[in-house]
Amino acid sequence: MRKIQMVDLQTQYQFIKPQVDAGMQEVLSTGQFINGPAVKRFQANLEAYLGVKHVIPCANGTDALQVAMMGLGLKPGDEVITADFTFAATVEVIALLGLTPVLVDVLPDTFNIDPDAIEKAITTNTKAIVPVHLFGQVADMNRIMDIANKHNLFVIEDNAQGIGATYTNTAGEKIKTGSIGHVGSTSFFPSKNLGCYGDGGAIFTNDDDLAHTIRGIVNHGMYKRYHHDVVGVNSRLDSLQAVVLNEKLRLLDFYNELRKWAAIRYTQLLQDHPKILTPITSGDCDSHVYHQYTLRLVDTDRDAVVAHFQELGIPCGVYYPIPLHLQKAYVDERYKEKDFTVTNQLIHEVISLPMHSELDEAQIQFICKSLLAFLG
Ligand SMILES: *Cc1c(COP(=O)(O)O)cnc(C)c1O
Repeated sequence: MRKIQMVDLQTQYQFIKPQVDAGMQEVLSTGQFINGPAVKRFQANLEAYLGVKHVIPCANGTDALQVAMMGLGLKPGDEVITADFTFAATVEVIALLGLTPVLVDVLPDTFNIDPDAIEKAITTNTKAIVPVHLFGQVADMNRIMDIANKHNLFVIEDNAQGIGATYTNTAGEKIKTGSIGHVGSTSFFPSKNLGCYGDGGAIFTNDDDLAHTIRGIVNHGMYKRYHHDVVGVNSRLDSLQAVVLNEKLRLLDFYNELRKWAAIRYTQLLQDHPKILTPITSGDCDSHVYHQYTLRLVDTDRDAVVAHFQELGIPCGVYYPIPLHLQKAYVDERYKEKDFTVTNQLIHEVISLPMHSELDEAQIQFICKSLLAFLG
């Protein structure tokens, strides 16, 4: 059996090495490291793939979220509602911009933001909702868009873990995540479903004016050379990363199918154990791209399972061990523990198994047999 890895980027690279190496060589020989033709090609390729009018590449997924919020003109004091159970980047940029983060609980089956909790948290200061498609599973976007329209709020989709997923909207159309809200963001961190070989990110929108505003913001607030109309940032995707992304975008659906295959195998082998809750897919089965394959272990010492896996050389992850509302940087006296019962439970139960497009049957069997044997 091949050594099991949480993410196997080396094996993946071997399959695309000739194309990636040739593309990189071309960038090296032309010297167009910033905003070169590869970046423009990637922008157009991603627009076509997502079916979205504008893709604005940037330096990473955290910048993408920040710039999206700057582009919407959110101001200090504005409240932004997001999930308590997610990676810190989402709440970090809200706080960094002087906006007020409002964390709410998630649903126990999809791990995604609870629409009822969103409605309860809305005040006259609320300006935006940031749903995160956690672990690759689409949030309840139809409900979220309804709530947003009713209360005149912006929706910023954090699609860092959900790229490639499709969703059926209320009109019955199948659309890609990231293009459902007013603006979407993603990350091309190497381990993401569409990852480069360094840092990268992008913002998506169908709104022409917003796209124009954001293109200036990522370039020092410059709409005309050396005229700085707004305070911006420097956030760019470089040409070498765009080479990798162009190659991997062509294969994204294939990679996501392989992830789905691995997820189905895991579920087949694990779903009958009374202490294991396997991930559910809400809506159609294209609505989960398994950035992570995350189980809930009920009435179990989850940390003992993690330690046992470590001894066996099986990598695993606990995403996320601490709710954001209990993180020192984001504590707020308005939060009440009774409003976070789901997150407070999930942090003790979740475990993410190795998940990537290079997993094979023998590895999956070994992981599942080891888990089942340990749980008894
Ligand atoms: C990875 C990630 C980010 C941040 O992306 P970076 O490229 O690492 O800055 C933001 N939100 C979520 C949900 C993520 O998983």
